[in-house]
Amino acid sequence: MSGDGMKLVVVGAAGRMGQTLIRLIHQTPGVQLHAAVEREGSSFIGHDAGEISGLGNIGVAVTSDALAAFVHAEGVIDFTSPAGSVVFAGLAAQARIAHVIGTTGCTADDEEKFEAAARHARIVKSGNMSLGVNLLSVLTQQAARALEASNWDIEILEMHHKHKVDAPSGTALLLGEAAAKGRCVNLADKSVRVRDGHTGARENGTIGFATLRGGSVIGDHSVIIAGEGEQVTLSHHAADRTIFGRGAIAAAVWAYHQKPGLYSMLDVLGLANDQ
Ligand code: NAD
Repeated sequence: MSGDGMKLVVVGAAGRMGQTLIRLIHQTPGVQLHAAVEREGSSFIGHDAGEISGLGNIGVAVTSDALAAFVHAEGVIDFTSPAGSVVFAGLAAQARIAHVIGTTGCTADDEEKFEAAARHARIVKSGNMSLGVNLLSVLTQQAARALEASNWDIEILEMHHKHKVDAPSGTALLLGEAAAKGRCVNLADKSVRVRDGHTGARENGTIGFATLRGGSVIGDHSVIIAGEGEQVTLSHHAADRTIFGRGAIAAAVWAYHQKPGLYSMLDVLGLANDQ
């Protein structure tokens, strides 16, 4: 790591998370913005990364050449699109740099590609990079284990801003995975992603999802565990995107020292053994 800190590339630099990351990296000791990447054809190419994120000129021009941006970097932080993240995983593995993936909505096929890249690269991937949500996932797993499926129904409710393109959110799915793990079942076999019309009574042991979209909500999640005559609700409210950005920067610095592999935020936060 150089004297000015770990050299990070932000891909998706003009996005909501990209701009947040550029501002945070600028003010975080131990890391520096090495390059900022946007998709080919973006109107932000050539603009200064600091200008587009409200910092003023910082002397880093936004580029679409990810390969050149990665060559002398030490890590990449990626909140883009599933197709973009798959390409960046290949390039980051080639460049032997740490890759932090926050992108959600990835398919099983995409996940296989991340696993393949992680044979040679250090990847941290999580549907939510905040400390609070990762703690919530540990609590969800413990609650799901403690409260039997025959008497307690688990429902996951989320709300996000109206521009979000995938549903349920990556965080809702992460919480669903935690609940399924607590009950020793596969989420894919038990999840109910939508309900409409005459659905019949709720089947015991299923894990339901409900999605709300609107306004500028950054991310609200509740895990509702409903029993006969009582209900437990575990919830998280994101008031600010910096919680994801700070987690992603911490993940990049943590990954710098690890062996190749696919890690989660639970590993970064030291919560993996608390499940
Ligand atoms: P956004 O649409 O504001 O930004 C995405 C940016 O990525 C855009 O500027 C877009 O041009 C760019 N991009 C897309 N494909 C690209 C490619 N191939 N090459 C370069 N740039 C590319 O979206 P956002 O709100 O910043 O969210 C981005 C992703 O991060 C979403 O999948 C979202 O769900 C996820 N997210 C995850 C967390 C977390 O903690 N894991 C938190 C917030 C958002």
